[in-house]
Amino acid sequence: MVAAEDFDVVVVGAGPAGSSAARAAAEAGARVALLDRAAFPRYKTCGGGLIGPALAHLPGAPPSRADIRRASVTLRGGRSSERSGDGTLIQTAARSELDTWLAEAASEAGAEVRTPCAVLQVSDETESVLVTTDQGSLRARVVIGADGTSGRVSRLVGVSLSRVDLGLELELEAGSRAAEWADRIHLDWGPLPGSYGWVFPKGDSLTVGVIAAKGRPAETRAYLATLVRQLGLDGLRVLHDSGHLTRCRAPSSPLGAGRLLLAGDAAGLLEPWTREGISFAVRSGELAGTIAAAHLDDDGLQPAYTAAIGRQLGPEMAAGERCLQAFERRPAVFHRLIGGTDLGWRQFSRLVRGETTLDRAMRRRTVRVAVRALGG
Ligand SMILES: Cc1cc2nc3c(=O)[nH]c(=O)nc-3n(C[C@H](O)[C@H](O)[C@H](O)COP(=O)(O)OP(=O)(O)OC[C@H]3O[C@@H](n4cnc5c(N)ncnc54)[C@H](O)[C@@H]3O)c2cc1C
Repeated sequence: MVAAEDFDVVVVGAGPAGSSAARAAAEAGARVALLDRAAFPRYKTCGGGLIGPALAHLPGAPPSRADIRRASVTLRGGRSSERSGDGTLIQTAARSELDTWLAEAASEAGAEVRTPCAVLQVSDETESVLVTTDQGSLRARVVIGADGTSGRVSRLVGVSLSRVDLGLELELEAGSRAAEWADRIHLDWGPLPGSYGWVFPKGDSLTVGVIAAKGRPAETRAYLATLVRQLGLDGLRVLHDSGHLTRCRAPSSPLGAGRLLLAGDAAGLLEPWTREGISFAVRSGELAGTIAAAHLDDDGLQPAYTAAIGRQLGPEMAAGERCLQAFERRPAVFHRLIGGTDLGWRQFSRLVRGETTLDRAMRRRTVRVAVRALGG
């Protein structure tokens, strides 16, 4: 029998959470292995929208496809409000390129990156964790589960969720429409409670997507088809047609157990209103990697990580949940505020640029009163 290879930290999943965790742990001096079952570059269903807090935590300038300066906003496909800001609102990236770049950054920091390498089993054996893969076994002092929404490690930890949504996307060849979408995104507040749709341009392609609470797949698909038709994009060649779940953790859900920590989607860390997840993945990954390296063999691992996530991401998730509750009840008011008022648009642009956070914005008296009046 071949002996398991020894590492300080093994990270399962090389999305934004896993690669950030591996990079942070390696930079802190740990011996790290980063495993992903996919061969990179791999396609990932995602708008690839990079808001300010994501950009601020990336290891340099990412391989960006578009610098977004304008937005058009509609309510259920109605009249469009055009908005622009001073400079960049967000950037967009193709996830195949972003994730490959993040894994390379982890490798440059010293992590051993193994792809494709599927993790088949994880057993926390008190003194260490045994990770069984289709390429052999590894032993780690800490395992970080960054294996996404249907992750094996999060099942082991027993994550509990407050919300699960279904996101559907079409990746379209932009062709002759590329120029009109070069620096513009589109947002549509949708017909299903809490739903919205988007167009995120990526140079030679356009990602058109919708998201709504899981459980109404036919209506969610119909919403996507309607959005594509209303925007006159139905003649474009479809490059990818896919769907993926997003999930938000319940406030009391565990972020780890024993020698296991969870980061990103695996932990249910996501902004509940916009379902923005890359910044949560990168930030939680960095925290998990740094804390794992500092607490390889002591009881401080779980309390340190739980406290850090609670402090740094908890308030944003709680504010997002209240925002979503208000948005579910009164999307038309959100539309009027963001699409129709300078104050609302300014707050929204500051949010996506990372100049404020949702919880800080909601501490402003006017916003707080408005959200409360809307039932959030
Ligand atoms: C339709 C849609 C659009 C979205 N658009 C945006 C957006 O524009 N901006 C934004 O910020 N967020 C967006 N999100 C959310 C964002 O995609 C996620 O929050 C983000 O990908 C989470 O990163 P992660 O690293 O936690 O997980 P993932 O990116 O899912 O990475 C998990 C990795 O784990 C690997 N893995 C899984 N199981 C195993 C195993 N057993 N062994 C080895 N490897 C394994 C997978 O191959 C994968 O590479 C969107 C989500 C959806 C569904």
